[in-house]
Parts: sequence; structure tokens; C-alpha cells
Amino acid sequence: MNKAFDLKTLDALKIDASFINALPGDPVTENYTRQVARACYSHVTPESFPEASLIAYSKDIAQSLGLDPQECESELFTQVFSGTRLLDSMRPYACCYGGHQFGNWAGQLGDGRAINLGDVHAPDGKLWTLQLKGAGPTPYSRSADGLAVLRSSVREFLCSEAMYHLGVPTTRALSLIATGNQVVRDMFYDGHPKKEPGAVVCRVSPSFIRFGSFEIFSARKEQDILKTLADYTISRNFPHLGKPGKAVYLQWFREVCQSTATMIIHWMRVGFVHGVMNTDNMSVLGLTIDYGPYGWLENYDPDWTPNTTDAEGKRYRFGNQPMIALWNLVQFANAIYPLIEEVEPLEEILQEYKDSYEKGWLEMMRSKLGFKESFKEDEALILSLIETFALTETDMTLFFRQLAEISKDSEPVAGLHTLEEAFYMPELTDEARQGFTSWLQKYLARLGKETRSDDARKAAMNDVNPLYVLRNYLAQLAIDKSELGDHSMIEELLEVLHSPYSYQEGKEHLAQKRPDWARIRAGCSMLSCSS
Ligand code: AMP
Ligand code: MG
Repeated sequence: MNKAFDLKTLDALKIDASFINALPGDPVTENYTRQVARACYSHVTPESFPEASLIAYSKDIAQSLGLDPQECESELFTQVFSGTRLLDSMRPYACCYGGHQFGNWAGQLGDGRAINLGDVHAPDGKLWTLQLKGAGPTPYSRSADGLAVLRSSVREFLCSEAMYHLGVPTTRALSLIATGNQVVRDMFYDGHPKKEPGAVVCRVSPSFIRFGSFEIFSARKEQDILKTLADYTISRNFPHLGKPGKAVYLQWFREVCQSTATMIIHWMRVGFVHGVMNTDNMSVLGLTIDYGPYGWLENYDPDWTPNTTDAEGKRYRFGNQPMIALWNLVQFANAIYPLIEEVEPLEEILQEYKDSYEKGWLEMMRSKLGFKESFKEDEALILSLIETFALTETDMTLFFRQLAEISKDSEPVAGLHTLEEAFYMPELTDEARQGFTSWLQKYLARLGKETRSDDARKAAMNDVNPLYVLRNYLAQLAIDKSELGDHSMIEELLEVLHSPYSYQEGKEHLAQKRPDWARIRAGCSMLSCSS
């Protein structure tokens, strides 16, 4: 792939509408807020933004779609991916779905500010759905405006691409476009509404179907539609499973559970906190979807959530994500139960999720610590590291990169010196010093059992422990500049985050601990659902 002659202009892209051709749609075509019964989608036209301008695009995803990246700089591209102009083959629609929000059934949600443009047949045979986020209201907008602000759009655009290059399953982003219009938002829901610049992101994914896409039809007892949607999903995204039937639905559920486990293990590996793991934000493909008030662990704290809307119960805190994913899978199991009508096999598969998560997490943590071999004592050593982290604020990303620098035959005191860069406090307390020294003693003893050389272990550790992640304050700095019309930091981050595991000369400033000013600044450590 990626040969120049393979790449097409926008007009030449092969786009179709498999979703709307295969599934029942809403007969009402006017765009007003409503409950939509017995339909998977509603036809809707995006808003027009004559002043739209391109901020950034992803060359990679353009190429994957078979689109010549140069096309991304054309006026037509900005018009199409702001929603202002449609290509002839596009028949835009918004999907109907429901969901459990913060543990409660919320009824119909749907694409309130997402509009699908259609499916692109990529040169590699893959089918990718293109979806605009923030291009205007739909029948599912409820009381909201269907728009998105620049700050949340920058965050979604950058993080989708960053996650992809970290090796975390995710939806992708093709473009980030300023609409030229203002959007009013009360960022912390405290009576201080403000005008902010608006933007549209074009998201790209093999599917945007969520757990909530099935929950809505099950809750409404529209079982024929539930089945039609399940069969469509299986034939499009799980074709290897064969012709749908009870056994295939179960195998499908198993794959959803397994891919969800894999995704969460990756989140735990890189220190990602989604922030709003409602069932409408869970992809059936196990992709990270709907980047809202997400955040990256700076100091390792399992209780941390960036989402101020969730500050009280901290339901979606870092350490709770595996459990919440299971809770969400239970809701998904309930939703597809009418297709299976047997509880036991579903429960068995949910148990498999728990087992594979635990096993996979342990493997992942072993790899972060540089263990090739596996020993029984490893789990205790890993758990004791997590306890030790609580003794002083320790930057998760820098800690694991520094750990890779320690050689097998080091003394614990020298090892501690190597780790210093990762600690937020300039001086460790006695308790923290002792805690880390005693952990290092055990770690070094364990390293002694490894047959790999220091260099080989370091290389392997640096392949799973990123150096560059989209630190919360870095995203905020890029947003601050972008709001003033300077998009250079978005470009810089996009480029550096393309190779997050490799040291990049001159980019040291993007691999630093969170500065003190960012500790309590909105957007850096505190985000709300307002976007
Ligand atoms: P989220 O928690 O961001 O995934 O959103 C939950 C629901 O609210 C989804 O149905 C979204 O489409 C909808 N929603 C969020 N923001 C807006 C908005 N500005 N306009 C319309 N719908 C929205
Ligand atoms: Mg959502």
C-alpha cells in the first residue's frame, strides 16, 4: 500500500452506505429532537460552515483510506469534512442508541452530535465509516446543540492518533477543522457560560456500533431489530464467525469480551483514564471511543479520574476501569440475551473476561518491568510496586523509562538515584526512600533470574513503556495556542506522538513531568463532560 499511484482524490473515493442499506431507518426526515422508534438511524444533513478552515489532518489515516494526503489541503476537503458540502455518494445519517450512564439506564441517547457520512472502501479491502463530530444537531441531540468546541476537538483528534501509535485499539481521526463559528459552553456547569470557537473532527472507524446500540432495541423489546443489527454487525465486522445463530452470537459475545479486556489492559499499560465509560461509549469492536474528559496518569494513582462530573463517586477512576468494563459487558449480555435465551453460557464468557483480564494484566505488568521469564513471585512484586507508588507522587511514564536504565548488578541505592527523575517531590521522605529501596532490592534480585542482557531488556521495556504520551497539560498548551490561531503545537504533538516509544532529539520538553502550575488548572487535571 501507500504507493503514490494508489492514492485517490476525494471525488474518486469509493463510498457507500452499507449501514443504511442494511438496516431499518427512521421515515421522518425533518431534523427535530424526538424519540425514534423502530429504527437504527435517521437521515440528517450536517450544518454548513462557510468560514470553516483546516487545522490539522492525519496523513496516515488519509493514506489508509486510499486518499492522497495532498487532497487534505484542498478547499473541497475542508468543505466536506466540516459538513458544509457533501460528495455525491454521501447519504449522511445519525444512529439511534441508548446506554447506561454512570450506572443508570438513560434511555435513548444516539448520535446527538455525530453524523456519519458513509463507508469508504479502502485499498486494503477494509471498510471504514467516516463520521463528523460537531457538525450540527440531529434527532438525538436532546436539549443540546450538536456542536463541539475546539478544545475538546483538539483533544479527540490528537488522542485518537496518539493511542493508535501507542498500539492501543482506538477509533481514528482524519481531520480537525475550525468551523469559524462560536459555541456557548458553561465549562464547569457553574453558571459561567462563555463563547468558544467551534470545531468538527472527522472520526474514522471500522464501526461506531456501541453496547448501547443493542441495549436500546432490547429495552424497547424491538427484538426483530435487535437481531437485524446483530446479524449486520457480525456479517460486517465479525465475518469469520459465519452465519448468525445461537452459537455464533455466543462466540461473538466472547470476542467482544476478549477485545474489551485487551483494550483495558492497554489503557492500564499506558496510564489512560477514559473518564466516561458509559455503555454508549463502549465499542463492540473493543476500540477506545468517544474521547471526552479523558486523562493520562501523571503520578501513579489508581483513584484518579480527570472527570470533575464524576468527582464524587469516582466511578470511572483509573483502577476501576477493568471492573467497569465488566459491568458494561454484563449490560451488553443482558441486551443480547433475547438472541440466546440462556444465562449460563453468557455467565461463563463473563468469567472468561475476568480470567483473561487478570492473566493479561499480569503479563503486561511483567513486560513493563522487563521480565521475560515468569516466576510465581512476580505478582507480589508488582502489587508491592503499586503500594510503593503511593508513598510519593511518582510519574508513571518516566518511572518505567528510568527503570529500564537500571542494570542487573546495580545496588539499590544507585537504582534509586536513577529513578529520582520520576518523583514529583524534590526530596523523598524517609518512608518513601525506604519503601523504594526495599522494593528495588527485591526487583534487582528478580532481575538476577533473567537470562536476557541489560541492553536487550531495556529495548524490550522501551517497546512497551512509552516515553511520550499526551500529557494533560501538553494537550492544554496546544489548545491555548490553537485558540489564539497558532496550531503549531498540534502539529508538533501529532508528529512526536507518532513514535511514542522512541527518544526524539529536541523533543525532551514533551517528556517532562507535569509542571506545578498544571496541577490544578482546568483542562490539565480537571475536565468536565462539557465539550
Ligand atoms: P458523551 O457522554 O459525550 O458520549 O455523550 C452522551 C450523549 O450526549 C450522546 O448521545 C451524545 O451524542 C450526546 N451529546 C453530547 N454532547 C452533545 C451536544 N453538544 N449536542 C448534542 N448531543 C450531545
Ligand atoms: Mg458518547
